Amino acid sequence: MNIAERIKSINAELGKNVKLIAVSKKQELSKIMEAYNSGIRDFGENYVQELTEKQDKLPKDIKWHMIGHLQSNKVKYIATFIDTIHSVDSFKLLNEINKEAKKNNRKINCLLQLHVAKEETKTGFDQTEFKALLETDRLKEFDFVNIIGIMGMSTFTDNMNQIENEFETLHQSLISLQNRFPEFNATELSMGMSSDYQTAIKKGSTMVRIGSTIFGTRL
Ligand SMILES: *Cc1c(COP(=O)(O)O)cnc(C)c1O
Repeated sequence: MNIAERIKSINAELGKNVKLIAVSKKQELSKIMEAYNSGIRDFGENYVQELTEKQDKLPKDIKWHMIGHLQSNKVKYIATFIDTIHSVDSFKLLNEINKEAKKNNRKINCLLQLHVAKEETKTGFDQTEFKALLETDRLKEFDFVNIIGIMGMSTFTDNMNQIENEFETLHQSLISLQNRFPEFNATELSMGMSSDYQTAIKKGSTMVRIGSTIFGTRL
């Protein structure tokens, strides 16, 4: 199958209520354009420099999603154009995003990244930190940030039960966020990648981030 055919077959599995974010990190521009030409407008990237270079070269109606770990001091490089930041893993980062969004007089969509996987290398708020965040009013401080939901990654494992449990935790966390801050209108659950998106959809995912299944192996 070529890229257009793979996108078509993934979209058929996703149905109408789940958005496909094509993860284009470390992929050639020609491949990204193949995805664009088959209708994809949402692309996900992990590295700030790579993201800004691609944003510069590719069509301006692309919605860029930052899905990789983001350092506060790099927010300024993407704040002019980024649509959604999935990887908000600290209050400090949220504060910085708000500041840079304000400078550009625009709002930036943000997802709180939760750490539910067993790997220490994966980032995000753990459940204790997340609970603490919900107990304060600090998330209400930001006028230039839309907190639209929760993002997370499952453990890299064959154990389907474990993956399901981790996605269930993310789903429950979204419900907690909605109950605590109904005014945010937080409806998005960004979970599922090439290896586990079918499970993620069963558990209520609204955004899947798929790279290698669309584009093949990365450079
Ligand atoms: C790279 C990456 C993906 C896509 O992974 P694939 O296995 O290629 O689908 C999704 N989410 C995050 C956070 C990533 O870093």
